[in-house]
Amino acid sequence: MPEPLGSAARPLRVAIIGAGPAGYYTAEALLKNQQLHCAIDLFNRFPSPFGLVRDGVAPDHQTIKSVTRIYDKISQDPRLRYFGNVTFGTDVSHDELKHLYDQIVYAVGAQADRRMNIPGEDLLGSHPATEFVGWYNGRPDYRDLEFNLSHERVLVVGNGNVAMDVARILATLPEELAKTDIADYALEKLRHSKVREVIMLGRRGPEQAAFTTPELKEFGELAGVNIVVDPQDLELDQNEQVALIHNKMAERNMEVLRQYAALDKQNHERTIRMRFFVSPVELLGENGRLTHVKIERNQLVMDTYGGLRAKGTGVFETIEAGMILRSVGYRSVPLQGVPFDDVNFKIPNVAGRVMYQSSAEFIPGEYVVGWAKRGPNGVIGTNKPDAVATVASMLEDLNELEGIADDNRDLSKIETLLQSHNIDYVNYADWKKLDDYELKLGAEQHRPRVKVASVTEMLHIIRG
Ligand code: NAP
Repeated sequence: MPEPLGSAARPLRVAIIGAGPAGYYTAEALLKNQQLHCAIDLFNRFPSPFGLVRDGVAPDHQTIKSVTRIYDKISQDPRLRYFGNVTFGTDVSHDELKHLYDQIVYAVGAQADRRMNIPGEDLLGSHPATEFVGWYNGRPDYRDLEFNLSHERVLVVGNGNVAMDVARILATLPEELAKTDIADYALEKLRHSKVREVIMLGRRGPEQAAFTTPELKEFGELAGVNIVVDPQDLELDQNEQVALIHNKMAERNMEVLRQYAALDKQNHERTIRMRFFVSPVELLGENGRLTHVKIERNQLVMDTYGGLRAKGTGVFETIEAGMILRSVGYRSVPLQGVPFDDVNFKIPNVAGRVMYQSSAEFIPGEYVVGWAKRGPNGVIGTNKPDAVATVASMLEDLNELEGIADDNRDLSKIETLLQSHNIDYVNYADWKKLDDYELKLGAEQHRPRVKVASVTEMLHIIRG
């Protein structure tokens, strides 16, 4: 009879794929369990950890980024090892990890974007907001993208917090951006930006907007930026007024929007214009490049589930623009050897247990957390209870789990495997070297940090 998994004689071997918030909170929940003996390996695609906190959170939101202190503390636990610069499915396969770990947790987030599915979406100048976010945040695989900042107008589609982030970054004065950890090349490009008007296009009304009040208030605090809202878009019928009483966030948003709509003539050079009840229906271009966006006025109609959806009214308008960023939601992408729900763009699961969708059969020892589990919603903190719930499933399953062969429990096996694949993986101490380097450069320039945005350069700094 083998020793129970998770006992001192047979510590649980766990691989977590993805060192973003969801991955870290999973590690934390496992490490906090007093009864559990475990050894966790955290794999990450880039040498630098922290996922969306580094690559997604806006550079002017440093307070949010301070959550990395918690991840740093979790990383000090000797039961947790970090393997950066390792891509699951390419550098190490699903089958290889299955031999070395009793349990695997996918914490890969949502890497890709949703599309609007309208004509012209692939014209030059039309991008997912996810790319623009990755670009200004110094994400290595987006650093070489080109964005057209030579036209005075950019449209941003969507009314979520990502749309707010990209609109704000486009409108912010360069001298303000220069105080942040925005990627150097992006700062340089934005210094010469000709963009003077950012128009946000919400397909539904302000009451249905997904953005939160602090982000909305930030617009009003931007130096040198006019905020324009049409008071007509804020008029509510009786049903909407009743609904507002039950939606505190929408109520607070409406208050702020009313203040913006009442602003006297503003004379700044830069403008954020918030439009509601409009959808782009076609992107028009010349020589393959975006020149205009055709939009349609919407009305709200009840859908079959009792919600309100936008329906075109047949009233159209064409707006000249040099760029359009669609910020209509992220989506996960399939992982090698792992089931994928390509309707909802998630890893199919119940309570974090990965399952085959067709047979509803669970895959022993495989779990999912974060956006790959529940879809791209919630703030960073949402990932904590989400990870705790998946870890509860992992622990519940231990009695039934066969676990890997004892021959494969040797902690050095994964290192031997990665070396045999010629993978230049980095550990947490290596990351700290890079972190120190970035912080030191930042301090010299009175900035939070100066990001290194190329994997080659990161490895060069780490290897000294
Ligand atoms: P989101 O909050 O889900 O917002 C998506 C927006 O896209 C909604 O306004 C949605 O409108 C709109 N949309 C979807 N399909 C559309 C279409 N075909 N045409 C026009 N509009 C369309 O997603 P997100 O902004 O990507 O944010 C993801 C998550 O990260 C959210 O939970 C967000 O709060 C969080 N986040 C937080 C912060 C922060 O705390 N500062 C910053 C960034 C992101 P409908 O409502 O009509 O569907």
